[in-house]
Amino acid sequence: MTLPVVSLVGAGPGHPGLLTLRAAERLRQADLVIYDKLVPIDLLAEHLPDGAERVCVADLVKCHDDRRASIHDTIITAARQGRRVVRLKGGDPSLFGRAGEEAQALRAAGLEVEIVPGVTAALGAAAFAGIPLTHRHHASAVAFLTGHESPDKPESALDWANLAHFPGTLVIYMGMSRLESIARQLIDNGKDQQTPAAAVQWATTGDQHTVEASLAELPARVKAAGMTAPAIVFIGSVVELRQHVAWFERQPLFGKRILVTRPRHQAGELVHRLIELGAVPLVQPGVAIGPPADWAPVDAALGQLQSYQWIVFTSANGVHAFLRRLRARGLDLRALSHVQLACIGPKTAAALREYHLDPDLVPARFQSEDLAEALQGHVQPGQRILLARADRGRELLREELAKTCEVEQVAVYSQVDAIEPTSRVLDSLRRGEIDFITLTSSNIAKALIQQLDLPCRARLESGAVGLVSISSVTSAEIRQLGLPVAAEATEATTEGLVEALIQLAAP
Ligand code: SAH
Repeated sequence: MTLPVVSLVGAGPGHPGLLTLRAAERLRQADLVIYDKLVPIDLLAEHLPDGAERVCVADLVKCHDDRRASIHDTIITAARQGRRVVRLKGGDPSLFGRAGEEAQALRAAGLEVEIVPGVTAALGAAAFAGIPLTHRHHASAVAFLTGHESPDKPESALDWANLAHFPGTLVIYMGMSRLESIARQLIDNGKDQQTPAAAVQWATTGDQHTVEASLAELPARVKAAGMTAPAIVFIGSVVELRQHVAWFERQPLFGKRILVTRPRHQAGELVHRLIELGAVPLVQPGVAIGPPADWAPVDAALGQLQSYQWIVFTSANGVHAFLRRLRARGLDLRALSHVQLACIGPKTAAALREYHLDPDLVPARFQSEDLAEALQGHVQPGQRILLARADRGRELLREELAKTCEVEQVAVYSQVDAIEPTSRVLDSLRRGEIDFITLTSSNIAKALIQQLDLPCRARLESGAVGLVSISSVTSAEIRQLGLPVAAEATEATTEGLVEALIQLAAP
């Protein structure tokens, strides 16, 4: 029997792309993930198996005084049951992350433990704020310190007198509440008060905020900016290089807080793009996808596939639902060998290609009107067309095709509104924490807008929050519901939407 193994894993400083491959592998194998509050668990969820349990340490019982014991108990119990436990920590587990203590306690309980390193905050912040930690002309050494202990106490574990003469860059974790006394101690012990310094909050995320000042002035400037944890402090002449090196803040959507309303399983691509461009994505699906109320019409259609000359898909969801059902009914791709396939746009086509099916028709523009028009040029009068789609949506395609052909329309999946009036995202909207809302279909637009109360609506009406629409059909729906459209994608794709956001955000 193999011994139960617990992995102490570094999650990196906040950007989901700064997770190591080994960490991602461990997450994929996890049954239970116990994570620290700073870990962006939603952004890492794509690595977790569906059934994995997630527990934030802040939610564990007796989490305050007795915190360690409680975390250890939870891990030990789970591991003894044979579950794979990942203890996920911000940054690197060994740097101010208590990896040593936890590993010791778990080993003492008879468990095998491994440690997976992570990108620590100092490295993440240095890279994303453009502060090279070492430089041939500036610094040949770096020290990572905790600012958690009061430097004024004689028993302080840090020797500030010596640190004031450290020949290199100082990086201080957890130093926000004691910054003033840290700066004073360093200066009193001989560090030049003009030494360049910077505090970087929420490094590597779109919320990253940097305050630069001389060592003497930094505490007051940080206070004036209202900067609180998590932030990390750099002290040393390398900070000067930031003005030439900083790159992340130049990203076109840097700092923009953008609501993504796609169903969760489809939000990933847009979320990734937004993060790459420096934005802070918030995800609140407008609609949820489920099985259709009744499979019977779909099964009937599958039973007579030979009778159709065309199958038309109007969404990637439709493709996946249809092909999964086809498999579940004991059929395979050969059942489609005779039939032509049409798709509304590139996303739907890409979904078909995942099954090694090449669409015969994708219109140049991606709305029902365009698909109807394109199909009219290809179908013969009297042909039979199967339209596999959601249980709600526009009827235009069916109506247009039915003028010349025999159309069978089946709902291969259902769509329900997913925004509750109590949704946290509505609170964020009210508090002015959202800059843009992306709306990727008329149904999503309707689902969201119908839940808005007066204060929320007022923010949208005034343009304080911009609604960004994926197509003219979605824009029409938004206007129909009485709200202005701030920007519309020229091409109805994720990239088109991102382009519209970039133009809207441009100064
Ligand atoms: N093990 C972690 C550090 C935990 S101590 C690591 O290796 O990064 C918590 C401190 O880390 C915070 O007080 C702050 O100083 C720093 N920190 C963590 N994430 C940060 C971030 N995204 N931006 C700035 N500082 C961060």
